[in-house]
Amino acid sequence: MIKYKLICKNCDLTFDSWFGCSEEYEKLKKKNFLNCHQCNSNKIEKTLMAPKLINNSKIKNPEKNFKKLDNVNKTIRQYQKFIKDNFEYVGKNFAYEARSIHYNEKKTNKGIYGTASNEEMKELRDEGVEVEMIPWLEDKSN
Ligand SMILES: [Zn+2]
Repeated sequence: MIKYKLICKNCDLTFDSWFGCSEEYEKLKKKNFLNCHQCNSNKIEKTLMAPKLINNSKIKNPEKNFKKLDNVNKTIRQYQKFIKDNFEYVGKNFAYEARSIHYNEKKTNKGIYGTASNEEMKELRDEGVEVEMIPWLEDKSN
């Protein structure tokens, strides 16, 4: 048994239908035995299965996907700029500085940003320190 998603070209109704095999679909279609439950038209077509559709669009529109990535990069860069303007860079001392602020040993109005390993991030979170991980793009112009 094989399930096809069918579409009526006349009224755009889509519905699922079961066939014994793919040849059975072709046979029924040729004999005009396939018709729409809604408008009774026999302009019934098989629709592409969703995963196939996604793959096709990926191959057909590589530029569109690159553009999407471009937008993501732009958003990250805007975010980076905001952080650079408003946060203090502490580099690899991030875990230490974050703890200092968390345990109130250091008074600061500014947030901090820097680098930390996954291990350090986990430890900080376990201690209840509020940390966020964000994607970071290296600035090649610097
Ligand atoms: Zn129809």
